[in-house]
Amino acid sequence: MKVLGLETSCDETSVSILENGEIKSNLISSQDFHSDFGGVVPELSSRAHLQILLPLIKRALKQGNISLNEIDLVCATAGPGLIGALLVGLTFAKGLSFSLQKPFVPVNHIEGHIYSGFLMNEKPEFPFLCLVVSGGHTLLLIVKSDDEIIQLGKTLDDAVGEAFDKISKLLGLGYPGGPAIQDVANKNISSKLIEFPIAQCKREFDFSFSGLKTAVLRFIHTEYQNIQNISKEDIALIAASFQKTAVLALTRIVEKAIKKFPVNSISLVGGVAANELLRYELIEVSKKYKKKLVIPNLEYCGDNAAMIAYRGLRLHQNGNKFSLDYKAFPGLKANSFTFID
Ligand code: AMP
Ligand code: MG
Repeated sequence: MKVLGLETSCDETSVSILENGEIKSNLISSQDFHSDFGGVVPELSSRAHLQILLPLIKRALKQGNISLNEIDLVCATAGPGLIGALLVGLTFAKGLSFSLQKPFVPVNHIEGHIYSGFLMNEKPEFPFLCLVVSGGHTLLLIVKSDDEIIQLGKTLDDAVGEAFDKISKLLGLGYPGGPAIQDVANKNISSKLIEFPIAQCKREFDFSFSGLKTAVLRFIHTEYQNIQNISKEDIALIAASFQKTAVLALTRIVEKAIKKFPVNSISLVGGVAANELLRYELIEVSKKYKKKLVIPNLEYCGDNAAMIAYRGLRLHQNGNKFSLDYKAFPGLKANSFTFID
C-alpha cells in the first residue's frame, strides 16, 4: 500500500510517502518569510503553498523511488487551519484522487498529530493519554481506539505555543518564539527563578496561559518600565522562569489525569513537544507512574505530512470512505473526535 500525504494547514508545506506504513519520504518546506511580520500572514501562506506543492510532490516521489501511478491512497489535511492554505492541499489531493481513480482521505490535522507517535518504532498503546501542544492548540485527550478519542481538557485562551510566541515577541527574541525562548532560557545562570502564577481552571483538566502572559508583562513593566532597560542576563532569567511555569502548568495536569484514568501509555505531540524541558519533565512523570512515554522525533513534532498519511491510512484500513465533496474546515471539527465537554 503506497500512500501520498499532503499537509498545508499553516506555514509548512509538507509531502510524504508511506509504503506499508513505513516512511519513504517526508519533505517539509517552511515559510520562513512570515518572521518579518511577527506571525503567519494567511494570504501569503496560501500563495507559497501553491508555488511549492507540485515541485515538492515530485521531489518526494523521486526520493521514495515511486511513480505517481503507483500511489494507492491520497490523503490531505482538511482542517483545522487557515482556510486558504488548507484548500491548496485538499483541492490538489481531490484532483489527484480523481485522476488516479484512487481513494481520497481527508485528515483532521490534530488527529494527524495524535498519530505522529505511531511513526516511531516504539508506538503508543491504547488507551493512551495524549498531550497535544502546538501554536494553535493545547489539548489533553484519551485515545481509546482509532475511532474513540475523548477530549479531557483544552486551553481556555492562548495555546501554549502561542504563549511562547507572544512572550518571545515581548522580550524581542523573534518568531517562532518556542525555540528562541528555549535557547535564551538555556543561558540563564540564576538559580532562583521568578515565580509566575499558574492558572487554576474551573474544570480540572483545562489549561489557561493568558494570565501567565499578563504576569510576565506586568513584571517587566514594574521592574524595568521598558524592555530596553533589561540586561541579557535578566532576559534569560525571565525566559527561563516563563518556560518553567508553562511546562509545569502542562505536566501537573497530565499527572492529575494519569492518577484518574487507567492508561497504558502517554504521548506528547505537536510543535511544542520539541521543548527540551517539557520532554524532560514528562520523562520524569512517566518514570514516576511507570507508563510508557512516546514522543516523536523532532522532525515529526511540528507539522508534517507523514502523520497525515499515517492517520489517513488507518482511517482507510478501518473501512472509512470519503467523498470528493468533503469540505475544508478551519475550526476544530474532526472526522472522529468524541468531545466530552
Ligand atoms: P505547530 O503549531 O505544531 O506547527 O508548532 C509550532 C509552535 O511550536 C510554535 O508556537 C512554536 O513557537 C512552538 N515551538 C517550536 N519549538 C519549540 C520549543 N523548542 N519550545 C517551545 N515551543 C516550541
Ligand atoms: Mg500543527
